[in-house]
Amino acid sequence: MKTERYDIIIIGSGAGGGTMAYALAETGARMLILERGDFVPQEDENWNPEAVWKHGRYQTGERWLDDRGQEFRPYTHYNVGGNTKFWGSVLYRLRREDFGPLQHMDGGLSPGWPIDYETLAPYYDYAERLYQVHGERGADPTEPERGAFPHAPIPHSDEMAGIVQQLRAQGLHPSPLPLGIRDGCVLCNTCNSFACKLHAKSESEVCCIQPAIARSNVTLWTNAYADRLLSNRAGDRVDAVEVRRNGDTVRVEAPLVVVSCGAVNSAALLLRSNDRHKAGLANSSGLVGRRYMAHLATMMQGFHPFRKNATVFQKTVAINDYYFRGPHTPFPLGQIQSQGRTHGVMAQTVVPQVPLSMYDWWVERGVDWLAMSEDLPDTRNRVAIDSTGRIQLHYRPNNLRAHRMLVKEMKRILHRLGFWVVMTHSHGARNTTHQCGTVVFGEDPRESVLDPYCRTHDVENLFVVDASFFPSSAAVNPALTIAAQALRVADHIRRADLKVGTTSTGTTSTPTTMTRT
Ligand SMILES: Cc1cc2nc3c(=O)[nH]c(=O)nc-3n(C[C@H](O)[C@H](O)[C@H](O)COP(=O)(O)OP(=O)(O)OC[C@H]3O[C@@H](n4cnc5c(N)ncnc54)[C@H](O)[C@@H]3O)c2cc1C
Ligand code: SF4
Repeated sequence: MKTERYDIIIIGSGAGGGTMAYALAETGARMLILERGDFVPQEDENWNPEAVWKHGRYQTGERWLDDRGQEFRPYTHYNVGGNTKFWGSVLYRLRREDFGPLQHMDGGLSPGWPIDYETLAPYYDYAERLYQVHGERGADPTEPERGAFPHAPIPHSDEMAGIVQQLRAQGLHPSPLPLGIRDGCVLCNTCNSFACKLHAKSESEVCCIQPAIARSNVTLWTNAYADRLLSNRAGDRVDAVEVRRNGDTVRVEAPLVVVSCGAVNSAALLLRSNDRHKAGLANSSGLVGRRYMAHLATMMQGFHPFRKNATVFQKTVAINDYYFRGPHTPFPLGQIQSQGRTHGVMAQTVVPQVPLSMYDWWVERGVDWLAMSEDLPDTRNRVAIDSTGRIQLHYRPNNLRAHRMLVKEMKRILHRLGFWVVMTHSHGARNTTHQCGTVVFGEDPRESVLDPYCRTHDVENLFVVDASFFPSSAAVNPALTIAAQALRVADHIRRADLKVGTTSTGTTSTPTTMTRT
C-alpha cells in the first residue's frame, strides 16, 4: 500500500474541518485535507428548485437505516464545504445560559458545557468576522453580551417589515437574523438548501478552504474517503489514516489527526476503526455515537388567499421570546425564524399527487417560518454501524411537549397576523440537518469522549472538531459555535501547551510531537 506523510491531517471540509484548516494553514505545517466529496460546480442547477429538491442533485445518494431498520436517504451533503454549502447561513451564538445546565419540561435536563460563554466569546468574534456575519446588537432579548456585529443587518422586505411591526404590536420582540453573506449577494429566493451560484454565501469552501489551499503547504484531496484510523496497540496514538481514493487505498501518516466528518460520520469513523479495539477508537467511555441530537424542527406556513407575498429574500426575522420560557410554562420552548421562500416543487415533494400549479398558487400566498426546539441528550439515541460499516441512526426525539407548545403558540401568532390557514410539516426523526452530540466534550473521561479542547481523552494525537462535541443542542443553529470552537482548538494546538517540534520540511514550528503536558 502506498504511504504518504504530512504534519497534520484534517478529515472533512465543512464547518469544523474547513475552519480548522483555515486557522492552521498559516502555521506553515504541511497539511492534508481529506474530503470524501468533490467541489460543487457553479452551474445553473445550483438555483434550480427542481434539480435540488425533486432530483436531489447535491444530496448524498447514500442510504442509512433508521431505528426500525428501514432504509432512508439522509438529507446531508458530501462535498467540499460539507453542509455549509447548502446552509441558510443563520449564524447564531449560543445564549450564555445554554452553556450551563437548563431545566426543561417533564424533568428533562440540558446539561452544562465544560466551557462558559466568556471562553468562547473571542472566538465567536473571530468566526463572525471570518464568515462575515450581518446582524444588529441589542435587538434580541436573549442575546449574550457582545460587541457590534461585523456588518449591518440585512434589511427586511416590505412585507416582512410590516410583519415585524405587527409582531411588536403583539408584544413580541422580533430581531434581525444574524446572517453570513458576502459582497455580491443579490438576496435571491434560492439560498437556504441551495448552493450559491455566485459564491456570495459565507460558507466553508469560499471563506476557509479556498484561502487555505491557496497556500503551498496545504493540500486538498477530493473524493478521498477516510475509511479507518489506524492506531498503535495501546490505542493511545493514531499512526495513520487509511484512505480510499480513485479506486486505491492509501495510507497517510501524520503526528496530528483532526476528524471533522460531521456528527454522524465522525462517530461512524471512530466506530469503524475497530481492528485493534472492538468498541472502536477513543471509546473507553462507550459513548462514541451516543447522545445524538438533531433539534426538533417544524416548518410552518401562514397562508392568506388574497395576499400575495412579494418577498424574495425572506429569511430575516427571529422571534426569541419563548427561548427560555413559554407564555404558559416556565420551561424553554425554543426559537422561531422566518424561512427562505418555499417553492412549489419543494412543497410537492411532501405530497406528490397534487399538481405543481396548485402548489405554486399556494406558496405565492404563503409566509414561511421554522419553529425549532432543543432535543435533549439520551444515550439510547445513537449512531451505530452494522458489520458492513453501514450507518444506523437510532433516534427517538424527546422534549416533544415543549416543541408542540411552541408550534401551537406560533400558530396563534400567525392567526393573529391574519393568516387564514397555517400549514405545518416536519421530517421528524429523519431530520439530520442539525446533527450533533455523538462525541461529546467534557472534563470527565467516563462521561465524555473529548476533553474541553476537543482532544480525545484516549488518543493523544487525535482531535474531533465538528458538531459532535456538543453536550447539548441548545435551540439556535449550531454552525457558528462549531466554527468558534474550531478556532479555539486551532489556537490551542498552536500554543505552547502542546509540545511542538520541527516539521518534516524543517521550516516551521508545528505539532509533530503530540504528548500531554
Ligand atoms: C439545508 C441546510 C441548511 C442549514 N442551515 C443552517 C444555518 O442556517 N445555520 C447553521 O448554523 N446551520 C445550518 N445547517 C447545519 C450546518 O450546515 C451544520 O451544522 C454544519 O455544516 C456542521 O458542520 P460539521 O463540520 O459538523 O459537518 P459538515 O459541514 O457536514 O462537514 C463534514 C464534512 O466531512 C466530509 N466527510 C464525512 N465523512 C468523511 C470521510 N469518511 N472521509 C472524508 N470526508 C468525510 C463530508 O463530505 C463533509 O464535507 C444547515 C444544514 C443544512 C443541510
Ligand atoms: S446570492 Fe445571496 S441570497 Fe442568493 S444564494 Fe447567494 S448568498 Fe444566498
